[in-house]
Amino acid sequence: MTTSGTSPGKPSEANPTPGVPTPGVSDNASTHASVSHAASNYLRPIIEADLAADRYRGKRWAGHPGPAAAQNQGRPDTARIRTRFPPEPNGYLHLGHAKSICVNFGLAGEYGGVCHLRLDDTNPEKEDQEYVDAIAEAVHWLGFDWKADGNDNRYYASDYFDWMYEFAETLIQAGQAYVDAQTPDEIRANRGTLTEPGVNSPWRDRPAAESLTLLREMREGKHPDGSLVLRAKIDMASPNINLRDPIIYRVRHAHHHRTGDAWCIYPMYTYAHPIEDALEGITHSICTLEFEDQRPFYDWLLAHLADLGKLNRPLPRQYEFARLNVTYVVTSKRKLLQLVKEGHVDGWDDPRMPTIFGLRRRGYTPAAIRLFCDRTAVTKSDSRIDYSLLEQAARDDLDPITARSVAVLDPLKLVITNYPEGRSEICRAPRNPHAPEAGNREFPFTRELWIERDDFREEAPKKYFRLFPGNLVRLKYGYVVKCTDYTKDAAGNITEVHAEYLPETRSGTPGADSIKVKGNITWVSAAHAVPATVHLYDRLFADPMPDAGDKDFLACLNPKSRQTVQAWLEPGTHASPGATWQFERLGYFTADRVASTPEAPVLNRIVTLRDSWGA
Ligand code: ATP
Ligand code: MG
Repeated sequence: MTTSGTSPGKPSEANPTPGVPTPGVSDNASTHASVSHAASNYLRPIIEADLAADRYRGKRWAGHPGPAAAQNQGRPDTARIRTRFPPEPNGYLHLGHAKSICVNFGLAGEYGGVCHLRLDDTNPEKEDQEYVDAIAEAVHWLGFDWKADGNDNRYYASDYFDWMYEFAETLIQAGQAYVDAQTPDEIRANRGTLTEPGVNSPWRDRPAAESLTLLREMREGKHPDGSLVLRAKIDMASPNINLRDPIIYRVRHAHHHRTGDAWCIYPMYTYAHPIEDALEGITHSICTLEFEDQRPFYDWLLAHLADLGKLNRPLPRQYEFARLNVTYVVTSKRKLLQLVKEGHVDGWDDPRMPTIFGLRRRGYTPAAIRLFCDRTAVTKSDSRIDYSLLEQAARDDLDPITARSVAVLDPLKLVITNYPEGRSEICRAPRNPHAPEAGNREFPFTRELWIERDDFREEAPKKYFRLFPGNLVRLKYGYVVKCTDYTKDAAGNITEVHAEYLPETRSGTPGADSIKVKGNITWVSAAHAVPATVHLYDRLFADPMPDAGDKDFLACLNPKSRQTVQAWLEPGTHASPGATWQFERLGYFTADRVASTPEAPVLNRIVTLRDSWGA
């Protein structure tokens, strides 16, 4: 058994509130923050101090979770720290979870530690195997692994029900817990308020033997839901309401997705979570700020169980950080579920969803999401990160690695009237300007081309340098052309633009620069282009804070979050699912992993080249 200087019942003091200004964080949603390197994390100095003090010397790890008796059989723990990512399997993971994953797995990786994946499934309702599988897949996809030193380190809190129960009996026997028969309303009324102390339950001092008998009867199913609860006996006058004899077990006749009908009493989260951490030998238990007020109970419980010989010291310590909030996004499983159930989006992996699977389908890479998480600080002050920071992370990740190509999203026919019918010439462009070794791509120049409708005007406004009658522009990687005229249909829509090419101006030839032009437009050969369906995705919400206050977040949905167009892609574009390109001038696109085939490409716009929101 190892010991440390932590005294029983004493909350850990090592939780400083950092006063460091945080790059990339804005209280004001309209501030466009941008930073390029890893942001501050107030936990690093704490971990470094723990390691410098050799706080975990002598800590043992049996290779699996368990109480002191089991861990004492183990070997000295080779993991320098242990963290965990503990999702409740009741929904799909979202961007907020990605942050927690990056923090927990990231810190473990940085400091020679191990991070466990723990399915926190102590609540029988709403939890499901479907979510368990999806969570594991999402964590893996993000690039993290819970396996280490031959241990799988994927754990289920429900596997600890026996120990949690055993500990409850131990607490009763030690006079530190009792079975209360007050009604839920009485318990609430007697809890007191922020300004008034609570009132002791008439059952508070019943003999331990009586509580023990009742707890066993509860377990055997002899008492209906809501009739009895087990409470920790702490202090009904504590200024922290969470210490006023918190409920630790309740009767709940419910089927659990893993333990079936083995249990009809279930531990409360606040009781279960510290025990889960301790059984797994977690050193730094990192959670979000709303658990700060629970920390004294966390410490009380573990210290008492350690004093009773059930757990080893050093005990895990809880640290809280502010949840990741992002403008234009909701990160609440309940709200995301509502979007799916009510059909506002096409499922959990709709490319507009801030779920990890939605982001993946949209074309975000794991590296882009990790980059975004690394650029947002870990602090104790609430803030909202600008959505543009997420988009910028995608650009920064994709720019150096993504093949260039051309697409025309809103096509208008351009006919080069002096270019012979049937003729075609090969034009060349770099596959990736950042990677010259990747070489060039080739595509034909012909008499009939598709250009963007927006690249032509009947009458040019000021500073419009693209096509209009009489103007010269360069067809990128091809020739300089001069616009001659255009045709219209009965409704006045432009149907075709006509131009003449200047043969000596071909890109890559000595004559290319003989004529200077201000406009440079992209095009594809009409006879060779690949047709594609392209979804132009935008922010799902039009309001920067859709979930603030009492706002109806559904009323904040962006009606233009998805526009679908029929586009033409550069010939040779092989749209196998998941392929990603930068279409010149337009942005980053990916072939939809579900709907796309090379024969019938379906593309998603990941992000535009520049932040043009609201422009
Ligand atoms: P939700 O409110 O969406 O249901 P949750 O906190 O209830 O989220 P859990 O499954 O309990 O979801 O979360 C697993 C872990 O992820 C927890 O440690 C939780 O603190 C963390 N987490 C969840 N949302 C965020 C967020 N927005 N920012 C940082 N961490 C988060
Ligand atoms: Mg939760």
